[in-house]
Amino acid sequence: MLTMKFFIETFGCQMNVYDSELVTGILIKNGYEQISNINKADILFLNTCAIREKAVERVIHKMEQYAHLKKKGDLKIAGVLGCIPQYSSDRLKKELPFIDILSGPDNYDKLPQMISECLKNKKIQENLELNEEQNYDDILPFIKNKFSSFVTIMRGCNNFCSYCVVPYVRGRERSRSAGSILRETSDAVSKGITEITLLGQNVNSYKSEGVSFPALLEKVSEIEGLKRLRFATSHPKDISDELIKVTAENKKICKHLHLPFQAGSNEVLKRMNRGYTKDEYLIKIENIRNSIPEIALTTDTIVGFPDETEEDFLQTLEVIEQAGFDNSFMFIYSEREHTYAKKNFKDNISKKIKSERLKKVAELQKKIGLEQIGNDVGKTKEILVESVSKKRKTEMMGRTGQNRIVIFESDDTIKAGDYINVHITGAEGVSLFGEIRN
Ligand code: SF4
Repeated sequence: MLTMKFFIETFGCQMNVYDSELVTGILIKNGYEQISNINKADILFLNTCAIREKAVERVIHKMEQYAHLKKKGDLKIAGVLGCIPQYSSDRLKKELPFIDILSGPDNYDKLPQMISECLKNKKIQENLELNEEQNYDDILPFIKNKFSSFVTIMRGCNNFCSYCVVPYVRGRERSRSAGSILRETSDAVSKGITEITLLGQNVNSYKSEGVSFPALLEKVSEIEGLKRLRFATSHPKDISDELIKVTAENKKICKHLHLPFQAGSNEVLKRMNRGYTKDEYLIKIENIRNSIPEIALTTDTIVGFPDETEEDFLQTLEVIEQAGFDNSFMFIYSEREHTYAKKNFKDNISKKIKSERLKKVAELQKKIGLEQIGNDVGKTKEILVESVSKKRKTEMMGRTGQNRIVIFESDDTIKAGDYINVHITGAEGVSLFGEIRN
């Protein structure tokens, strides 16, 4: 029998990138072959994310683009994985009547069985159960990158921020065992990976068999051959002094922290159910900067939350000014099904005001971000080289430990995955520019 070939396309966050590697690992182990040309695939999976309002439309549109392959019969199975089937399965079935498989994030281990069933019975296979025991502890993801990789340490979330759909589509929080995380990380390092990012919706609340997140970081950092250890995402209410201490003292842990603040007004933060005030957030930032002077901070910002007044919004600008973020993921609030905010608050800020606020936040962040990364000008930094630069073939790009992008004029000897020293000569936008230093 010919080996069936699959093509997988990923939407959304780093956790989804990891989940696609997990799905790939599961399918390869079961005898399927991964290919990068959709036109030659027997099976297509879109691994999706439901965080943004437009995500469902995007996935439906994308799947429609592939409908002709299904019609021709080249493509035997078309499936949608991840958060969107969990969030919107009826709509997917209605608008994509040719769909064969719908699987939520807790059911990827059942995909080989679902594929077989589907080929046999020609009936849609749907598995959207949330399984709060599911951690995929015994499954190794298939790593594509040769030098940097993700390891998910926990799944789901218990925080129920009022605007967020994650607890509804990914279920309650659960941590993987430290043993399985260490096995997976050691395996990745043995394959040449030197940089690992530990992932979770809220890594600070990791807890398994008495192992806390700072303790896990220490254990992972001891793996020989690992050079850089990153983690995301941290929730401001849970970031502990112990974590700050470990990050400050452990040389392998990168000095970069992604700490979403979302909004500056205490009223808005309360309605968002974020669990901290503006002052508490800023005091955490001060403590972090005092303990780790070289830390680079990034964040998430939402504008136009229900009832957000001009005064509330000005406080968001104040936090950006005072905290000194390198960069921010900036969003306009949009309602998501199931959430507390959708059920209880009116989405009453006009599109025009939302857009104006987003523009102001983006302009301020651009200025502050440039000031922050500009502090590196004149210094020599070790970077991990990632790829050829998008703009010029003679240039390459890499990242510092602080996750700052560095563009430099390369030579034939340098390749992706190398660690090199670069003297920083300038900063523009969100990038640093430099020259190789030996
Ligand atoms: S911490 Fe809040 S924003 Fe983040 S995933 Fe959990 S509920 Fe969503």
